[in-house]
Amino acid sequence: MNNKAFQALSYGVYIVSTWNEGTPAGCTANCAAQITATPATVMVSINKNNFTHDCIRKCGYFSLTVLAETSDPAIIGTFGFRTGKDYDKFAHVQWQVRDKLPVLSDGCAYVCCKVIDSMDTATHTVFLGEVIGADTLRTDPPMTYAYYHTVIKGKTAKNAPTYIAEQPEPKAKYVCKICGYVYDGETPFEQLPDDWKCPLCGAPKSMFEKR
Ligand code: FE
Repeated sequence: MNNKAFQALSYGVYIVSTWNEGTPAGCTANCAAQITATPATVMVSINKNNFTHDCIRKCGYFSLTVLAETSDPAIIGTFGFRTGKDYDKFAHVQWQVRDKLPVLSDGCAYVCCKVIDSMDTATHTVFLGEVIGADTLRTDPPMTYAYYHTVIKGKTAKNAPTYIAEQPEPKAKYVCKICGYVYDGETPFEQLPDDWKCPLCGAPKSMFEKR
């Protein structure tokens, strides 16, 4: 099996949100799609180990915020490489309530859903949602997963459906221990200011390790 074939599939970058007993919970997802138009239904695949997974099960509702190419990439780090079990992700972003669900403000569209079915797979649950509300937030083009990898130079989180255990490391030097971001800027890493932060997850310079 050639894993490169999977890399030819197209994905977006989404923040899936729901409620955890009155407080917002959410995670990054790249596998979401519209399944039918009438009635409008969408699916999203969520790793069973994600805190958000059990919250969606309990709440029965979820929202998808579609990130734009212009969205702050730190959102992906915050929602994709940290866990809501012990970290308040929503304290670090602007969000609002739409159709009674938490939605991130820094996206280009959102879709709110009621869970109507789910499918168990080895590592993920595929939630099928009937759309209860959807709107655009701004006209910037949506971020594709390819854009995230090639332009933002982000990594695949371990809980993502598209994660491949042995990804080749391109001449890695300084790597963020939180999100896996590899620094490749013009300025030598040692010369970056002390208050420099990981552009993907916001972790301080001290969280980078030399490899
Ligand atoms: Fe990071």
